[in-house]
Amino acid sequence: MAVDVSVVGSGPNGLAAAVLLVRAGRTVEVHEAAEEIGGGTRTASLFDDEVRHDICATGHPLAAASPFFRWFDLAAHGVDLLRPEIAYAHPLDGGRAGLAYEDLDRTCDALGTDGPRWRRLLGPLAEHSRELAELLLGDLRHPPRDPRAAALLPARIAMLAAGLERHLFTGPEAPALLAGVAAHVMGRQPSLAAAGATLLLGHLAHSTGWPIARGGSQTITEALAADVRAHGGRIHTGSRITDLRQLAKSRTVILDIAPRGFLEIAGDLLPPRYRKALVSYRYGPGVAKVDFLVSEPVPWAVPEVGKAGTVHLGGTRDEVYAAENAIARGKDADDRFVLVSDPMALDPSRGLPGKRPVWAYCHVPRGDPRDATELIRRRIERFAPGFSDTVLSSRCLTAPELEAYNANYPGGDVAAGAVDLRQILGRPVTRWNPHRTPLDGVFLCSASTAPGPGVHGMGGWHAAKSVLGKDFPVQPR
Ligand SMILES: Cc1cc2nc3c(=O)[nH]c(=O)nc-3n(C[C@H](O)[C@H](O)[C@H](O)COP(=O)(O)OP(=O)(O)OC[C@H]3O[C@@H](n4cnc5c(N)ncnc54)[C@H](O)[C@@H]3O)c2cc1C
Repeated sequence: MAVDVSVVGSGPNGLAAAVLLVRAGRTVEVHEAAEEIGGGTRTASLFDDEVRHDICATGHPLAAASPFFRWFDLAAHGVDLLRPEIAYAHPLDGGRAGLAYEDLDRTCDALGTDGPRWRRLLGPLAEHSRELAELLLGDLRHPPRDPRAAALLPARIAMLAAGLERHLFTGPEAPALLAGVAAHVMGRQPSLAAAGATLLLGHLAHSTGWPIARGGSQTITEALAADVRAHGGRIHTGSRITDLRQLAKSRTVILDIAPRGFLEIAGDLLPPRYRKALVSYRYGPGVAKVDFLVSEPVPWAVPEVGKAGTVHLGGTRDEVYAAENAIARGKDADDRFVLVSDPMALDPSRGLPGKRPVWAYCHVPRGDPRDATELIRRRIERFAPGFSDTVLSSRCLTAPELEAYNANYPGGDVAAGAVDLRQILGRPVTRWNPHRTPLDGVFLCSASTAPGPGVHGMGGWHAAKSVLGKDFPVQPR
C-alpha cells in the first residue's frame, strides 16, 4: 500500500521523525528490524522478570535538554525524568571523589579552592543553557539565536582542546570530572570535538540535569510510539529493510540507520561521489557492556558517589586520557575508562529488595571480541570494595555482539561514527543539508547525522524539518 513516509529504524531519531511527520498529516509507517522497538532506548528483563535493565541508554541529559523533547513534552506523555542530586561522580584512589551536584554552589563548595574556577567555566553556560542546547543540538546551518550565549564557547573550547584545564585547577577532582565527561565521545583526547561535548554535557549537569527515566528508557520509546499510533501511524517490528526498492511506494523515506546500512540497502542507487563519501565515513572505538544483577547498592568507598546517576571510573584526568588515546589508536589499555549506572539509586521501580540492575561499559578497540566482565568487575571493585560479593548474575555484550544487536553500532561503536571535528561539521558527509541525500525523497536521521549520538531525537527533528520545509515546525496537539 502507498504511504507518504516510511521510516526505517525505531530508535529515538526514527520515532521523533515519525511523530513530527504523522502530526503534520502524513501517513507514516515505521519498519524496525528487531522484534522490539526502541533501538538504543530499550529496557528488558534479563535475569529476573521483575528486574528491568536498560540495554543501552540510561542517562538522559540530552533528552532533558533537547528542543525536540521539549516540544514533544515527555512529562505530558507520562515519562517521569528523575533528576539525581549528583549528576555524575568520579571516584579517585585514596577515598577521594569528584562530585558534580546539580546544584552548582554545592559542586563548587565540594571542590574547595577549585570551586570558583569551576563556576567560571560552567556557570555562565548553565545560565544560557537553553540557547546553548539549541545551538549544540542544532544542524549547524543556522546562525545562533543568541550570539551572547554562543560567544561563551570558543575560548572555553580552545582551552579544553589544548588541555589547559590541567593548569587551571589545583586538585585532581575537577580535571578528573571533566575528563570523565570528555570520555563520552570515545576518541582522541584532548580534542575540539571532546571539548565541545564536555561543555555541553558538563553544563547540563548544572541546568536541566542528568536524569534517568522512571521505569527505564523504554518508557521514552513507548511514549513516542504511542503518539505515532494515536495519529494513525503504523509500526512494524521484525521488518528489516534490505533494499531501498522495498519502499518504492513511499513518497518519502527516512533512514534511522548508519551510513554502512545505507550503503547496504541503496549502494548501487547512489551517485559515485556520495557513495565514496559514505564509504569513507569513519567509525570509532567500540564498547563492551556488562549487565549485573546485584543484591546491594554498589558499596562505593565514598558513599556520596552512590547518589550519582552516572559514575565514571578511570582514575585521574591523565589516566583517563592515556587509556582513551590508546583505545582510539586500536591498542589495548589496562585501566580502561568504565561508566557505571545503578539506576535503582533513584528509581526503586527497576528491581526488588535484594535484586538490583547495575550496568557498566568500558571502551574497547573497535570489534574487540573479548568478554569484559572481569575487567569491569575489578575496576568497580577498586573504587567499591566488596562489589564482587554482591553480584548474583552477569552477562557481557561484547563489541561484536552489540553490532549484532543493533546494526547502527559497527564494531560496537555506540556513537554510530567517530566524533571528531570533521565528522561533527559533516556528519555523515559534508553537504549543506546532511540529512538530505542525493536520492529524491530519501533522508537520513540517525546518530550518524548531525547533531550526533545520544537520546535527543534531534536527527529526526532535522530530517522532518527537511521534509516539511515551510510546514515546519509542526503544531503540538
Ligand atoms: C550501551 C549503550 C549505552 C548508551 N548510553 C547512553 C546514555 O546513557 N545516554 C544517551 O543519550 N545515549 C546513550 N547511548 C547512545 C544512544 O542509545 C544512541 O545514540 C541513540 O539510541 C541513537 O538513536 P538513533 O535513533 O539514531 O538509533 P538507534 O537507537 O541505534 O536505533 C536504530 C534502529 O534502527 C534499526 N535498524 C537498523 N537498520 C535497520 C534496517 N535495515 N531495517 C530496519 N531497522 C533497522 C535498529 O534495529 C535500531 O532499532 C548508549 C548506547 C549504548 C549502546
